[in-house]
Amino acid sequence: SHELRTPITAIKGSTDILRRGILGELNSTQKDLLETCNKAIERLLNQVNELLDFAKLENGRFELSYGEENIEHIIQEAVNIMEPLITKKRQKLKLELTTQVTMTLDRQRILQVLLNLISNSIKFTPDTGEITIKSYFEAKNVIVEIHDTGMGIPADKQKNIFTKFYQVNNQLNGTGLGLAISKQLVELHGGQIWFDTIEDKGSVFRFMLPTGNGGL
Ligand code: ADP
Repeated sequence: SHELRTPITAIKGSTDILRRGILGELNSTQKDLLETCNKAIERLLNQVNELLDFAKLENGRFELSYGEENIEHIIQEAVNIMEPLITKKRQKLKLELTTQVTMTLDRQRILQVLLNLISNSIKFTPDTGEITIKSYFEAKNVIVEIHDTGMGIPADKQKNIFTKFYQVNNQLNGTGLGLAISKQLVELHGGQIWFDTIEDKGSVFRFMLPTGNGGL
């Protein structure tokens, strides 16, 4: 993990110094090139992190770091991170959250699941589409849903969607690991993840987490 992350971090640090003009003013072409570099490095870092997470999960060497967390705060944090992308695609975002509750969970890992599901819904929904995030209680569980009005998933591909490295269209963007990792992370919390989808209409990805407190 160190061998992979260290050189990327060094490249990122160096290009950051150049981008900020610390070593001298840049012309606009130089700025554009460094901006492209920066985006590529971020993507590379994300993909390396996904691969490393996945390797750890496969080896059973993955440990959650539990805390008492408000699930709605985590959803809101994910939304704040993703909002610029939603705005860029001129998509509409709706929030219907009704689960102000503290639960025992790994904040970073549930945030990671949310970021993965929300970024997929943005990526696979055309400009001006709609993303809706809901949370509600069902028995002693919290259900979180991410709805989109995107391309959906064809019936014959649906069974593979949580398979590692699987992508419906073999797109260059992404690793095909996000859903496989999300499934394992949710299941490590004692939860479940599933979806409904209609081709050319949209998808709903849902995950359930037990509140563990019994009293709602
Ligand atoms: P990645 O996004 O890196 O390709 P994922 O494991 O997150 O990998 O998703 C696997 C595949 O499932 C995607 O490549 C895409 O084909 C399909 N998919 C996931 N989410 C959606 C969605 N909201 N709408 C349509 N297709 C989706």
